[in-house]
Amino acid sequence: MKRKLASIQTVLAIEPIPNADAIELARIQGWQCVVKKGEFHIGDTGVFFEIDSIPPDEGRFAFLWRGKDGSVTTQPVSFRLRTIRLRGKLSQGLLMPLAQFPELPLGLETGADVTELLRVTKWEPQIPLNDEVDGPFLPGVPKTDEMRIQSVPEVLAELAGKPYIITVKCDGTSATYGVNRHTGAFTVCGRNWSIKRGPNAYWHAAGKYGLESILQQFPDWIIQAELVGPGIQKNRLGLKGIELCVFNVFDQEQGRYLDHDKAAAILATHGIPMVDVLERGESFAHDQESLLALAEGFYSSTQNEREGIVIRPQTETQSPTLGGRLSFKAISNRFLLKGGD
Ligand code: ATP
Ligand code: MN
Repeated sequence: MKRKLASIQTVLAIEPIPNADAIELARIQGWQCVVKKGEFHIGDTGVFFEIDSIPPDEGRFAFLWRGKDGSVTTQPVSFRLRTIRLRGKLSQGLLMPLAQFPELPLGLETGADVTELLRVTKWEPQIPLNDEVDGPFLPGVPKTDEMRIQSVPEVLAELAGKPYIITVKCDGTSATYGVNRHTGAFTVCGRNWSIKRGPNAYWHAAGKYGLESILQQFPDWIIQAELVGPGIQKNRLGLKGIELCVFNVFDQEQGRYLDHDKAAAILATHGIPMVDVLERGESFAHDQESLLALAEGFYSSTQNEREGIVIRPQTETQSPTLGGRLSFKAISNRFLLKGGD
């Protein structure tokens, strides 16, 4: 499922904010967001922009324009919507009345994706990794991604009662390793492209764990991991060297992911580390609130806020909501409020 940065959404609730006369809190899907008092009522629809949206520099967003020093400006600014706290309340994203977007076709349903229609783009972190694009991603292999719980609250019911596993979301960059089924070549990919063999972090990690010979021996397996360490993002795990934290083993012959425990057992025999398990249980009973609470904490042996957690069934399951495997993330609001990427 693709993230919808701007979509039509229905207001589920409006709540007052103590000691605030001009603003109140609106609930949209699993999100909460501050709005002008009286602008929305329960059941109203609006255009909701998720955090990490960059709205186009149009006058209707001018009320959010700020200069470099943070002061109000009339100069068009390209800016990223962030997680903030207003009058003590968490506020994520931006909800605007439908009337401000007369270019939208009439009759759009709740959930309709209007990201492209409204020319909203996505903020992406810049990561210098010394990587050079070699070519396309490994054919037939899914790219790595996780949806946020707030955007797909329906997944909680899909997982309810099932054996589940919650892992720590490592803050690095995505790496995919495997043998190309068509060419037989060992291939190293970042999020979207294969990476040229060379003195870069992706290939360094491949060498460190001997992935080329292991995967030539087991060409059905694709290993997907977070590449972490010095020089990658902010190295919040506080590592001394480049490492991999594996979160997926994909069988490209069968076209499916291995269950977590099976993947962990195979990798262990080759000395390849998996992401840390934070919690597992036989019957999933979390709600959004308890997952967001669990998401908060430090990476072990550090004082660095962890990015969040990833939640999955112990046995791979298809999700009607996600249109793919059941798996989703809860990002720590403490991490986001401290300016986390
Ligand atoms: P968004 O979709 O929220 O805009 P994004 O597409 O950049 O953000 P991330 O926030 O990076 O996605 O979340 C998904 C990524 O998290 C995966 O692609 C993977 O690289 C990484 N990741 C780190 N730790 C884990 C883990 N324990 N389980 C699964 N994925 C993990
Ligand atoms: Mn994503």
